[in-house]
Amino acid sequence: MSGAPGQNGASVAARTCLSPRLIAYAQHVREHFPRAIAGTTVADLDALADDVCTSLDDFPLTTGVLGCTVFEHGEAYTAIREGLRRDEPARYRFTLAHELSEILLRRYLDALPDQCRREHVCDAFAAELLLPHAAVLATVAVLIEAHAGGPGPSDATLDQLARRMAFTYDVSLTAARISIAECLPKGT
Ligand SMILES: [Zn+2]
Repeated sequence: MSGAPGQNGASVAARTCLSPRLIAYAQHVREHFPRAIAGTTVADLDALADDVCTSLDDFPLTTGVLGCTVFEHGEAYTAIREGLRRDEPARYRFTLAHELSEILLRRYLDALPDQCRREHVCDAFAAELLLPHAAVLATVAVLIEAHAGGPGPSDATLDQLARRMAFTYDVSLTAARISIAECLPKGT
C-alpha cells in the first residue's frame, strides 16, 4: 500500500535502509527491465508492471491511499488512484514503483516484523528503481570536485541540479532534492 502526501520525500531519504543484497537486487531488476536515461539504467516501470502484476487498474481509492496491491492465490492485483497518472505523473510513477516493490519483495517483506518498516523498504526500493543512488552520487561527486578548494556548490546550484535531475529522471522535485542531499558530504 502507498499513501500519505509527501511520501516521495521520506522515501528517498530512507534509501540507506536497503541492505547491499536489496541494492543488488534493484540493479538486477533495472537490468532486466531497462530504460536508459542520461547514461544510467533505470527500471522501465510499464514493462516491469506487465511482468509482475496480474492486473493493474486505475481505481477510486480511499482518501490518503494512492496505491494498493492485493494478493490472492499468488496473483498480484494492483490498483492506483484514478487520475493520478494524468494529474501527478511523477507521483504516479513513484506509487507504481512502490507497489511493484511490494510484489517483487513479497517474501522478504513477509519476514519483517512491522508494517512501517515494510513500507519504508518499499519506498527505498522504489526510489532505487527510479533514481539509482549510485548515479546521483556520481553526479554530485563531479559537482563537489568542480567546487574543490572553494566553499562548495551553492544552494542555488544544488537546486538547479535537483530540477534537472527531476526533469531528466521523471521523478518529483522533492525526491531529487532529498536524493542529492543524501549524497553531499556531511556538514554541507
Ligand atoms: Zn506499501
